[in-house]
Amino acid sequence: MPMLSVAAIIKNARAIGVAIPAFNVPYLPMIEPLVNAIADQDSFALVDTARPEWIKFESKGPAAVAEEFAKWRKPDHVRLHLDHVPVIDEDDQRVDYLPIFKEAITLGYESVMIDGSRLCLDENIQATREVVELAHAANIPVEAELGAVLGHEVGPLPPYEELYASGLGFTDVNEADRFVRETECDWLSVAIGNVHGAIAVGRKDQKKIEARLNLDRLEQLRRATNIPLVLHGGSGVKQAYVIGAMKHGIAKINVATEIRQAYEVALKGTGSVVKAQEAVYARTTWLLKEYLGIAGIRARVAG
Ligand SMILES: [Zn+2]
Repeated sequence: MPMLSVAAIIKNARAIGVAIPAFNVPYLPMIEPLVNAIADQDSFALVDTARPEWIKFESKGPAAVAEEFAKWRKPDHVRLHLDHVPVIDEDDQRVDYLPIFKEAITLGYESVMIDGSRLCLDENIQATREVVELAHAANIPVEAELGAVLGHEVGPLPPYEELYASGLGFTDVNEADRFVRETECDWLSVAIGNVHGAIAVGRKDQKKIEARLNLDRLEQLRRATNIPLVLHGGSGVKQAYVIGAMKHGIAKINVATEIRQAYEVALKGTGSVVKAQEAVYARTTWLLKEYLGIAGIRARVAG
């Protein structure tokens, strides 16, 4: 039987009410323990890298990640996804994004994310549509973002409770409806109280705040869009909210800070890449089994 596409797998996850994690790789040696932990739990996940991780960390770029991934690949359990390629980046610089997508598709990435969330609605629609046309021609699903999942920026976040109470940056339901119809994106990253872990120098080692999620807003977004929704900033969200989110349309959840900090702390403490890899393996195993509850899920989503 041919392998299912990532688009089909994420659809299956949505149908049975679970979320497939996408584990971010800011350091190349994280890939081996990630793949092994996912396969050992007979689970399914994506390995991905975002532009900030090759600009500000050490993943080097889509080609280096694809090359390392190819050494450990287990396609029944893990596929490669291109995370956040922003149109305007976290430092307010414009990005020449189309060549990055063309390269990733050539390299064998099976899904991609365009992040036009720092643009106005019309420009976000236009940029996303451009990438959808490019990627769909190669049968690659596209994730887009609407609303503002804050945290990657250089400046500090407003106090979290203030942010949550005001709903600042939360994805608007009417805009989401229009956005999905006009762009024909496959998955939508939403802002419902989730925040990214800090990546700015001086703040990236801090413990991440414990975010909450507005599940009522999520349910409205699920009904309005009728496509798989994505939760970015998965690290540090209270578990009950994550489990709730899976029941209301979240079919993919991005996890970066948890495993990055596990790697960095172990490397700093021991000076050993092997020990840092062991820390990633242990943390990933815990995330799959205990936090997300998706050990043993492979056959149900990936056939
Ligand atoms: Zn993100």
